[in-house]
Amino acid sequence: MRLELVSRLGSLAAGARNLGELFRALHEETERVMDATVFLFALYDEASETVQVVRQMDRGVEHSGGSFPLGKGFTSEVIRTGAPRLVRRWSAEGPPVRLLYGTEAGDLVTPQSGVVVPILSGDRVLGVLSAQSYRPEAYEEADLLSLSAIAAQAGITIQRLRVTEQMAVEHERHASELEAVLATMNDALLIVDARGAIVRLNRAARELLCLDSASLVFGQPLEQQRLERWPVTAREIAAALVPVIDALRSGASHAGMEIELGSGQLRVLSLGASVLRSPKGVPQGGVIVFRDITGQRELERLREDIFAMAWHDMKTPITVIRGHAELLLRRLSCGERDPKVLESDAALIVEHTDHLSKLLTTLFDISSLEAGLLSISPRPTDLGALTRDVTRGMRATARRNIEVLAHQGVVGRWDEQRIRQVLTNLLSNALKYSPEGSTVTVSLTADERSVTVRVSDEGIGLDDIELAQLFRRGYRAEPARKLAGAGLGLYFCNGIVTAHGGRMWAESFGHGRGSTFCFTLPLREEHGADRPVEDRA
Ligand code: ADP
Repeated sequence: MRLELVSRLGSLAAGARNLGELFRALHEETERVMDATVFLFALYDEASETVQVVRQMDRGVEHSGGSFPLGKGFTSEVIRTGAPRLVRRWSAEGPPVRLLYGTEAGDLVTPQSGVVVPILSGDRVLGVLSAQSYRPEAYEEADLLSLSAIAAQAGITIQRLRVTEQMAVEHERHASELEAVLATMNDALLIVDARGAIVRLNRAARELLCLDSASLVFGQPLEQQRLERWPVTAREIAAALVPVIDALRSGASHAGMEIELGSGQLRVLSLGASVLRSPKGVPQGGVIVFRDITGQRELERLREDIFAMAWHDMKTPITVIRGHAELLLRRLSCGERDPKVLESDAALIVEHTDHLSKLLTTLFDISSLEAGLLSISPRPTDLGALTRDVTRGMRATARRNIEVLAHQGVVGRWDEQRIRQVLTNLLSNALKYSPEGSTVTVSLTADERSVTVRVSDEGIGLDDIELAQLFRRGYRAEPARKLAGAGLGLYFCNGIVTAHGGRMWAESFGHGRGSTFCFTLPLREEHGADRPVEDRA
């Protein structure tokens, strides 16, 4: 009988999802085996030493519980001692009980007998069960045992409910931790469900897609989104996503896929997608992660550019140097002693070695600029004198007329070596991109705040689209590609001028109508000296 009771209760109590359901299961079982006219189920909170009544039953009516501090009654005694208590005649053995019914506060009920048993977990008292009757002598020792068996089952269920509650708290904590991770992630992340509908995206994804929350409908597949209202970038990404989502739905992950966004500025995204599966292994959608790798790609491209430039531009001087050195050796071994001949061979070697070292400096400068490490050391510099000096050096081989319209004495604090590099670059471009016999004019104008340098030619010219892109690293306009070059010179010059606190721009009336490259430098130093050039790419 008792065993039957316990196993039945086991299944009843095991189904309880909360303490209220457990109370009902306990009451039902108790009243099968004993008088449970009044029935009480309470938990004990050790920390506050209070008894928390879960529910009470009195003559078939369920009352909500209350709480009271551990006191002198039988309930408190059982909690304190951990031992069950049989009260045969309440009036003789203890005080009348004032029940804590919310509806009839303070009602005095006078049960005549009762059993109170602890709900134990090892030595710890989790709470109590109490059955009472308005009849005296309603209980005997066997009832104590029965109620203790019911209490043992109650103990197991309470523990289980506490674990579940703990798990719910843990689950919530994990969810909020995950939320925080997603929000601070630099990578964009999308979660799609089994139907391929977007159910979640983080801040980075929203930024990348340029979507405000209103333009994306959560829970709808991509093809049902109002894509025509999405910004171009988002539409391009969405187009790339369709096959990825389809693959996820059929259980295929993707790794290391790259998408190039062509509209507007070139952007490269790397994408990875992993399938989420149910415990049985059925695909349940997946997680898609994007990363903007444009910067990384640009750096790789720069390295390739530099390598190509180094390969291309160094091959010639190295061949020439080797040729002349061999020639010199041969002459010496043949007994050639004419100092003029030997000198001319040696001079050629020196000249090409200089050329090589200049090339190496340019390569180094570009990579320093890229890394934000190009330093500027301003000293008093006469820009007029510097311009004359640079043009003088180039005139001999120019095969074009070079005119200089420069005031003397435009002195400011600039890095002479760096400005020399800028002038040399602009001037050699003007010569390179204009026909033999034409004129290149360098002019200097100054007001009290700044000086402006203009290098004008009568060459191939530039259209508006080209003018807008000239200063991007590696840019070369179509008509210029017939001539050698790596598209790094203007990028570098612009970096130097910007680091001086100046500005650089170009003007042209169009193809075949010549161009003018201009830059200004401040005459009073308003910018920080000796600071590295910022990467403006
Ligand atoms: P590179 O001359 O090695 O190509 P630059 O950075 O100096 O590299 O110039 C970038 C591009 O700007 C050139 O490829 C050319 O298209 C354009 N450019 C520069 N200077 C001139 C000029 N004086 N006239 C016309 N186009 C020019």
